Amino acid sequence: MTHDELLDRYAQLAVRSGLNLRKGQELLITAPLDAVPLVRRITEHAYKSGATLVTAFYSDDPATLARYRFAPDESFDTAPGWLFDGMAAAFRGGAARLAIAGEDPGLLAGQDPARLARANKARSIAYRPALELITGFAINWCVIACATPAWARSVFPQLREGEALAKLWSAIFSCCRADLPDPVAAWEEHSAALARRTTFLNERRYAALTYRGPGTDLVLGLAQDHVWKGGAGKARNGIVCNANIPTEEVFTAPHKDKVDGTVCSTKPLSYQGSMIDGIKVRFEKGRIVEMTAAKGEDAFRSLISTDEGAARLGEVALVPHSSPISRSGIVFNNTLFDENAASHVAVGQSYTENIRDGGNRSKDELAALGANSSLVHVDWMIGSGNLDVDGVHADGRAEPLMRQGEWAI
Ligand code: ZN
Ligand code: ZN
Repeated sequence: MTHDELLDRYAQLAVRSGLNLRKGQELLITAPLDAVPLVRRITEHAYKSGATLVTAFYSDDPATLARYRFAPDESFDTAPGWLFDGMAAAFRGGAARLAIAGEDPGLLAGQDPARLARANKARSIAYRPALELITGFAINWCVIACATPAWARSVFPQLREGEALAKLWSAIFSCCRADLPDPVAAWEEHSAALARRTTFLNERRYAALTYRGPGTDLVLGLAQDHVWKGGAGKARNGIVCNANIPTEEVFTAPHKDKVDGTVCSTKPLSYQGSMIDGIKVRFEKGRIVEMTAAKGEDAFRSLISTDEGAARLGEVALVPHSSPISRSGIVFNNTLFDENAASHVAVGQSYTENIRDGGNRSKDELAALGANSSLVHVDWMIGSGNLDVDGVHADGRAEPLMRQGEWAI
């Protein structure tokens, strides 16, 4: 298949399997400027599916950098609230949302951390009304990726730009199953497999998971009333969509006070422009009490020192070692892909959707059930072909969940 054919299938996959866009819906797209050819194809498929209006907003890396070089200091407390309010209004009016990732992972690595923090904070506050409709699943939405020259250079620094870009596209197409004969059908099948696993795990109601592997010996208690999620979900507008393409994980909320033992990372983590690798931590009653890293130890230490919740876990996810992302052997420097390469945990904030009726519970109620709260949420990989995971019932009975990194259920 030619690149154009694959790009077209990928665009169709985003509209059909990702968004499940309905006749009469508006579509709002955010994308990097390099994604124009992909956005045009998505726009075509959206109109063919009956979209009434497709509107794309583009970001441009050099323009973002120009702000850090030339803008007056007060710029960093400014955000386009009017734009985000407009997006929120579109979502309340029934629009679907597609985000296309592809930014340069190292774009802002050299910038003043204080300015970055201020700009992020101003943006988070202004974006909140729109973000709440997205994270609260009020509408059907989806995140996909687009290979861009800067991203491709960061993933394959040893290759020439053209080759790096082609290699990144081919990895994206295969990780997203866009290179299979019928990608939409393949996603349906994949989504059904994830649903079977979450159903199984939700029926079991394990009290804890135990992990054994090289350098890993961990008991990870699960939050009370935890809910396993994964794959397609039904938005509150009634539309079933796949919020992430690709996605391979099933995930839930650990108990913030009930994690004990040691665990090692198995893949490098790219965090705010730094690479962190070879993390080894020891937990006591949920909190990280000892940590070392072969690389980027200071960056990891500063991450877990952000606040009290940053040294505790907010997510646990199971991903088979044979996932297409893992098989690619590539570190993408992008969470959409990297978190689907291996079983992982995240320090920091947990998701309210991982607690039964979480959206209607107060912060204190969520904390009492074991849900964690923090300003950060960062995934790091602990899965490999050597990892065994058991599900443990409240009475201590254990059942194998994963053996040698693969599902045993
Ligand atoms: Zn995850
Ligand atoms: Zn996560």
